Amino acid sequence: MQPRAQTTVEDIETDIAVVGLGTMGAMSLWRIARHGGRSVVGVEQYGAAHSHGSFTGESRVFRTAYHEGTRYVPTLLRARELWHELEADSGRSLLLQVGTLTVGYAEDAAVRNVIDSVREYDLPHELLDTAQLRERYPQHAVNEDNVGVLDVFGGGMRPELSVLSALEQAERFGARVLTHEQVIDISVDGAARVTVTTNRRTIRARAVVVAQGSWAKRLSPELRRIISVQPLPLTWFMPHHLEMFTPDRFPAFIRDEGGVHFFGAPSLDGYSLKVTPRRFHDPVADVDDVPKFITPDRLSEIGRLAQSFFPDLNPEPVHSSVHHDAFTVDKVPVVDVDATGSVLTLTGFSGHGFKLAPAIGEIAEQFAFGEAMTHMADDYSIAAHVARLERGADCL
Ligand SMILES: Cc1cc2nc3c(=O)[nH]c(=O)nc-3n(C[C@H](O)[C@H](O)[C@H](O)COP(=O)(O)OP(=O)(O)OC[C@H]3O[C@@H](n4cnc5c(N)ncnc54)[C@H](O)[C@@H]3O)c2cc1C
Repeated sequence: MQPRAQTTVEDIETDIAVVGLGTMGAMSLWRIARHGGRSVVGVEQYGAAHSHGSFTGESRVFRTAYHEGTRYVPTLLRARELWHELEADSGRSLLLQVGTLTVGYAEDAAVRNVIDSVREYDLPHELLDTAQLRERYPQHAVNEDNVGVLDVFGGGMRPELSVLSALEQAERFGARVLTHEQVIDISVDGAARVTVTTNRRTIRARAVVVAQGSWAKRLSPELRRIISVQPLPLTWFMPHHLEMFTPDRFPAFIRDEGGVHFFGAPSLDGYSLKVTPRRFHDPVADVDDVPKFITPDRLSEIGRLAQSFFPDLNPEPVHSSVHHDAFTVDKVPVVDVDATGSVLTLTGFSGHGFKLAPAIGEIAEQFAFGEAMTHMADDYSIAAHVARLERGADCL
């Protein structure tokens, strides 16, 4: 869907501009405004907490014992603190600590990463063998030799409410939020001043945070090689016995079985639960090419697989939707400061960025105030991504 056409309005001079107010942009705006002392303006092509971004779909899974590798654990622990800070600022419950249960085989790389995470960082957890899993979580069809790891810090997040809360709090701390305004160009002049041109005006800033998610390739040619737009499905199923799937009895979960990756959350709406596969479609060239729906045949297949993991589910999805995220080949995000030191690019969160978002916002805050950026890694830079591609990095 195209953003609304707009008439011209007054130009703006600001210290910091944030382009894109989805997940990372909203968190960046909140952190920068909360820090105080610099003017900050955020620009979003749609409305606040709109329905087109990577953050939509009712819930997200939070985990600290990490399938993607132990390297992310310190960032996740910091994100957890900041989620609680946003909850305190907004007075809303955003991170529901119901635990996240990983079910898989001990020899799988992802399960090994989870076990290494809890051991290396002494995370609160429970290790369950096959018999204990069956006893404790009868909702799951547990295969022979399956093991379980309950990440006690894990749980479910409310993504749309989180983005709205971050934007509201950013405004409360003095940020200016411009909605229904599309950025069409970002250029740095010789004096390291950045000009952000929108379809309505010019914004001149000392520094810019660019958080365009799946749209990142449109304005940044250097990202075209390293970012792909990946359609991602979400499906919800009705259990026959809802009482078995409420947050007090049923943690968020991740299951890997025979090359199939499923994840989901307990029932939040009082009649269904989210049980969904990771992928169903090849990457597409642009957000506009993301399919609008899941075909009936594919929905039946997803239903059959969901019921094989949770026998109590009615296999007909009660609700389904198609979303998207910007992926890199190895799911390592892009967090990059350009050569002038005035443009921070945040994208490529590869289907696992939501839980990290406030810590990424903190990186933007540190960038905006010229502080050392914690939770950065050398391989997050655009140059490092290009170098890995040239070396033929393997997909995860
Ligand atoms: C179905 C699905 C399930 C997921 N599950 C999980 C999970 O369980 N746990 C987890 O941690 N992560 C999960 N993720 C990943 C996570 O949600 C994403 O990594 C994260 O939301 C990406 O945030 P972003 O800021 O990069 O993109 P977005 O949130 O999409 O923000 C980009 C913003 O930039 C705006 N924009 C773009 N171009 C312009 C422009 N030119 N002018 C103005 N504005 C512009 C867009 O409108 C948008 O608002 C999931 C993702 C999906 C899609």
